[in-house]
Amino acid sequence: MKSVNIMIKPASSACNMRCKYCFYEDVANARAFKNAGRMQNTTVDAMLANMEADLSSGDRVSFAFQGGEPTLAGLEYFKHFVSVTARWKGIKTAYALQTNGILLDDAWCAFLKENNFLVGISCDLLPEMHNATRIDAAGEGTYKQVTNAIALLKKHKVEFNVLCTLTNFVARHPGKVWNQLVKLGIDYVQFTPCIGFMEEFSDYALTPKRFAEFYIDLFGYWYKDYSKGSYRSVKLFDDVVNQLILKVPTGCGLDGKCRAQLVVEGDGSVYPCDFYCVDEYKLGNLAEQRLCDILSSPVIDAFVQRAPASLPALCEACPYKGFCGGNCKRMRKEICIDASGSFCGYKAFLEKCGPTLSALANKQRMYMNRRRG
Ligand code: SF4
Ligand code: SF4
Repeated sequence: MKSVNIMIKPASSACNMRCKYCFYEDVANARAFKNAGRMQNTTVDAMLANMEADLSSGDRVSFAFQGGEPTLAGLEYFKHFVSVTARWKGIKTAYALQTNGILLDDAWCAFLKENNFLVGISCDLLPEMHNATRIDAAGEGTYKQVTNAIALLKKHKVEFNVLCTLTNFVARHPGKVWNQLVKLGIDYVQFTPCIGFMEEFSDYALTPKRFAEFYIDLFGYWYKDYSKGSYRSVKLFDDVVNQLILKVPTGCGLDGKCRAQLVVEGDGSVYPCDFYCVDEYKLGNLAEQRLCDILSSPVIDAFVQRAPASLPALCEACPYKGFCGGNCKRMRKEICIDASGSFCGYKAFLEKCGPTLSALANKQRMYMNRRRG
């Protein structure tokens, strides 16, 4: 039985917002074409046929739609997409949509509910910071629209989580962030580290010190509520517990290894990682080639083995080397090793919060063993 995860960018890098720290605009600017255009139905049909040819009954495919802003492809695009996969025999499908929420309305939410989409909604939680950075094309803040979209998702009982970009500014306020999660009734949150641009310095990029300070403080709030029986899912805490229990990472790069993902652009071009949708790492085109051909592309090895091949000196001497392996190469300078080379934000977080997370993992492991036995 195969399990395939595929990220699709149906509107390529197009977006109805102008977030000041957007990494995908930076990636798009670094390749020969900036925008591959809206994915046409003919591309959807060819791409899904090329996948179906290499799948069998019992296989699972998870489609995650992202952007740019994927809803710019239009609701009809998504209706067409699910109408094609609905004809697949015995292949299980799951859908996720990452959106800024601006275009969501009752019709969108009814569709998302009907097709069991898990929606990730981008919201930087602190209104003044969200409005200063997540602006629309007219330069206006979008916090109100995003919180309206959250209310709509709740009204339609669509499963959703919040993705908050952890900028250097947001990371200064773990207490305010936690209060806001409680106030908005957000039960699932993922903090995406804000990464620097490829060529330029970015004020928004996270630093290892801020990363550690934020997560150590946030953990205190999280654990206090958890101890009182109120659980809220914070993806990094879940990932660490999962990795301790399952011995496999549940987030890319958490063990320091790049694994090629399949990220499909609007014209069917496929790349191995959202951070590297650039000409050098193009794996092929899923509208023109079979899935098995894309998966056997030699570019995957070149991507996985790209420089730097060796770990920084701090990692070599680190007690968490076997667990973390230097973490994600692209995010290392934002969350791990700082400019001095002598401090690691992830190590500081693991030193402080790891023992409690280990105890929680042990409790969960014992509970699972008892249920099995
Ligand atoms: S660069 Fe990071 S996110 Fe991309 S494949 Fe490697 S570990 Fe995963
Ligand atoms: S120093 Fe940091 S990045 Fe390196 S192995 Fe240790 S925790 Fe991971």
